[in-house]
Amino acid sequence: FKINMSELIKLDELGKGNYGVVYKVLHRPTGVKMALKEIRLSLDEATFNQIIMELDILHKATSPYIVEFYGAFFVEGSVFICMEFMDAGSMDKLYTGGIEDEGVLARITYAIVQGLKTLKEEQNIIHRDVKPTNVLMNTAGQVKLCDFGVSGNLVASISKTNIGCQSYMAPERIRAENAGQLTYTVQADIWSLGLSILEMAKGAYPYPPDTFNSIFAQLSAICDGEPPSLPADKYSPEAIDFVKRCLNKDPSRRPSYAQLAIHPWLEKYQKVPVDMAAWVKGAMERRNSASGKADTFKPPLHKFTM
Ligand code: ADP
Repeated sequence: FKINMSELIKLDELGKGNYGVVYKVLHRPTGVKMALKEIRLSLDEATFNQIIMELDILHKATSPYIVEFYGAFFVEGSVFICMEFMDAGSMDKLYTGGIEDEGVLARITYAIVQGLKTLKEEQNIIHRDVKPTNVLMNTAGQVKLCDFGVSGNLVASISKTNIGCQSYMAPERIRAENAGQLTYTVQADIWSLGLSILEMAKGAYPYPPDTFNSIFAQLSAICDGEPPSLPADKYSPEAIDFVKRCLNKDPSRRPSYAQLAIHPWLEKYQKVPVDMAAWVKGAMERRNSASGKADTFKPPLHKFTM
């Protein structure tokens, strides 16, 4: 079925993205609550239409580790993407203080690896933007990936304007982009995965912006420095090994998804129970007390207005 704007009722604002706001909406015909992401872009109508067509293959990307895609449309200079609403939000706001429980960290990692593996093996999609903001959770304890580079046109339009202060790019990709090339392989996502695990464990981006006084210094550290690692006093040798393999500066020596999926660290925690629902409940409480606001009920607003 096709979704259009007039069927959506805005319920809440979930967050601000780089290109627009993400809303919680109600799809009236089905009664399903969804997340609606706006991506504001100055493009011609033909490119917009191409993007909508390219996004259509997302209907086929179904996995318990990938946020479900409901549809996309474009309205007045913006692409709108309707997707599964994840009621605990993104990982970057859930890992407050760092994830010390290795079982939880391993289960989150397992979900990301499975999501990336499915995208690659079933759709031949390389994610291109693996980072904690693009890992979402719900209160059932599920972990799912979103925001992957399915539309070539969308990827191209976004990367032209993307200037973040935290880079999850692999060294070889930083060098390639610096040289004006856009070569991109699946191994680069594995670096970003390693960096994301480290960030979730520590509770902070591994190359802290305040120790590098420019984005240039930060990128140099990624390209020329030793890769960061998990602290040996807090994590098991298996966890340290997993991250170390992902953060190999030589892309050809990073493991494949199939190899990562059977790494002893992930296998160990797939065999023992880990209460992800309890963890996410605690994480949401910590997040809300840190930001000083509870998840209060807000009455539904009127129909969606732009
Ligand atoms: P961008 O990639 O443009 O920066 P994000 O994807 O990070 O935008 O979205 C901004 C915020 O919106 C996220 O940090 C998250 O809290 C929220 N969000 C995005 N998608 C969903 C979703 N499907 N369910 C719930 N919250 C979401």
